[in-house]
Amino acid sequence: MADFDDLIAANRAFADDFDLGGFDGVAHAGIAIVTCMDSRIDPLRMLGLRQGDAKIFRNPGGRVTPQALEALVLGVHLLGVERILVVPHTRCAMTDHSEAELRRKVGESAGADASWQHFGVVEDQLAALDEDVARVRSHPLIPDTVLVGGFVYDVDTGLLQPRG
Ligand SMILES: [Zn+2]
Repeated sequence: MADFDDLIAANRAFADDFDLGGFDGVAHAGIAIVTCMDSRIDPLRMLGLRQGDAKIFRNPGGRVTPQALEALVLGVHLLGVERILVVPHTRCAMTDHSEAELRRKVGESAGADASWQHFGVVEDQLAALDEDVARVRSHPLIPDTVLVGGFVYDVDTGLLQPRG
């Protein structure tokens, strides 16, 4: 496992002053966030939250997929979630490329045919965000008491722009 030695060493240092042992898995601030896998996004810090405060679901584009809904339903009913933020972001690869472009780029990198690989490309980010927020709000297992908001995160300013 030498390939991961640097990270395991860092983990040992992390565990040296680890103080969250026995901590529960509830979202202590009552927050759930659906956002992109993009490495420029720090979901907790951008909202002034800490470890333990929020449920975080990430995927390419920050889309409300069936799995995201599964996570949100669990979060709302079992893990203390009361507010849900759906947060795509500026300069996202999923909005800046067509599916054909992503297949070509991945195919070149892989040196293999990638024409069969699905990528959840987003053509209209704001329309997709509205749809995603509506998908959460209208879910039969997510009650109206749960607040759901759509926001676009600007990766160049760190600001969240509320949608509508
Ligand atoms: Zn992205």
